[in-house]
Amino acid sequence: MGRIRLLPDEVASQVAAGEVVERPASVLKELVENSLDAGATRIDVEYHRGGDKFLAVTDDGRGMDREDALLCLERHATSKIRTGRDLATVGTFGFRGEALPSIASVSRFRLVTREADAEAGVEVLVNGGKIETVRDSGEAPGTRIEIRSLFFNLPARRKFLRGERTEAAHIDHHFQVLALAHPALRFTLTRDGRVAHQLATATDLRTRARDLLGAEFAGQLFSLDPVTHNGVTLRGLLGRPGHTRGDRSAQYVFVNGRAVHSSAIWQPLREAYGTALPRGTHPPAVLFVELDPEWVDCNVHPAKREVRFRDAIAMREAVRHLVETALAGQRQASVALPVRVFAEPPSVPVQPAPLQIQPTVLPEVVAQLRAMPVVAPEPELPMPAVERAAPPERFRFIGALGDRTVLLEDDAGLVLLDHRAARERILFEQLLRRIDRRETVSQRLLLPAIIELTPRDLAWMREHSRLLAGAGLLVEPFGAATVKVDGVPPMLAHCDPREMLLRVADDCRAGGAKGGARAIEESIARSVCRSASPGPLPAEAASARALIDELMACDLPYACPNGKPTMIHFAHSELARKFGRG
Ligand code: ADP
Ligand code: MG
Repeated sequence: MGRIRLLPDEVASQVAAGEVVERPASVLKELVENSLDAGATRIDVEYHRGGDKFLAVTDDGRGMDREDALLCLERHATSKIRTGRDLATVGTFGFRGEALPSIASVSRFRLVTREADAEAGVEVLVNGGKIETVRDSGEAPGTRIEIRSLFFNLPARRKFLRGERTEAAHIDHHFQVLALAHPALRFTLTRDGRVAHQLATATDLRTRARDLLGAEFAGQLFSLDPVTHNGVTLRGLLGRPGHTRGDRSAQYVFVNGRAVHSSAIWQPLREAYGTALPRGTHPPAVLFVELDPEWVDCNVHPAKREVRFRDAIAMREAVRHLVETALAGQRQASVALPVRVFAEPPSVPVQPAPLQIQPTVLPEVVAQLRAMPVVAPEPELPMPAVERAAPPERFRFIGALGDRTVLLEDDAGLVLLDHRAARERILFEQLLRRIDRRETVSQRLLLPAIIELTPRDLAWMREHSRLLAGAGLLVEPFGAATVKVDGVPPMLAHCDPREMLLRVADDCRAGGAKGGARAIEESIARSVCRSASPGPLPAEAASARALIDELMACDLPYACPNGKPTMIHFAHSELARKFGRG
């Protein structure tokens, strides 16, 4: 007897709903995307609490006639594509004709819609997938869809919903993403009867970002005018170096207008910042990536959150190259200004949120990082004038503490300097400069070291021998499973060549340096400098002075190559507070 049966339509829709409709926020996304596809210029979102009890989207788009208002509830009913070939070049958000039937099958659903020139609109009520009422209605042109009691007929699904606040946060996030992508359209978001966002038509992205996410966030970003490489065009807003997050929640990435998560974009984006950001942190960004639709497949994820690129390598290369160039441009514009030293560091406003290494870091770290890429002075952060550069004796030596800390004082208070971190920064920048000028020095080993490697390490060494040589590590294949090391960077002359080589390979792989040659060069340099001995801890004023001078001559003196602080500051005011002298 046959066991296979066709599922009734209703059940099929519920199954499909599981994929498209994960939570209230996914309903919002599908509805707003439909409004966008319908040419709306104004979109209003309302919801109560976590959005599962009530969520509504109203638009002023083209609306539907009576026939379409019923047809849109059928599975695979869509006005957006007609043949399979259209899939390759789809220019609308929707194309599967799945969202409305799916949503209507797992909720109490109300659709009111009217075409601009129609005499009357139509109202359709659906309960758990069953159409219950169809009647004329007198609403304004456009479409309004209300969802009540999401998943009321799927208790198993309901259980997966999180607390109201979490669901509301997801809704707000989706709203932000959609509103950011369409600055020219008006949006409102109303939660529990209170207006949370009312966004007027914005002429540019920065204005929309400011209206939506706040002036502080917008101030952390610089504008990237459209630039193209490998057929990929980038534009948007990028974080100024120094503004970081511990995760990617402040990154809004759009591919051909669609919000996506793609490692082929966020990884090279992060890599382009290199050591300008602490390790493990991410730059904020609102990034629009445009490429020929033929080169990207957006039909790989039910909620279309992920995309697949036909040439992911070219994509990575393009993002990295374009962001790097943009950052270099930012930095270049600022080299004329002595941003390194601030005459009045304590007065610089410090924002605790964006910087991870707060609040114990010297205020200049914040100031420097914030100021570094700025072309014109930001109003809230006056650039120091040339004559206001600090006097040479900015830091006075007090003594050495333990085996790696130097105690200093400046006018503002006590400064602790991490000797090793400072040395690493100095060596790192020296080494990179030499690599850039192709002047790296290598100390020849009296007896070349022959080192046996695992196939994985061997392959890595082979692939990167040129970059290793650039850093002074002369490695050559020698037989089937061994390499010969002829020379090492002088600063590592004291190390065991085998250990050093493996450590460099491990560090580079652990750091995920997959980007271009530059990322690997930096990774190698970072590792080499970490293995180097920092030399004796300065024990008197002259040697401390020399160290500080070298450190201050660096591009990024306040962080080691791994993004950790080189100095920590205790202001007099903080000490006074701790002693209760208030
Ligand atoms: P898709 O968006 O994949 O086509 P949906 O189920 O989301 O599928 O929508 C089905 C159809 O209903 C759409 O193709 C569109 O013609 C119509 N529709 C949905 N929402 C709206 C709206 N807000 N305004 C006008 N038409 C809409
Ligand atoms: Mg749709």
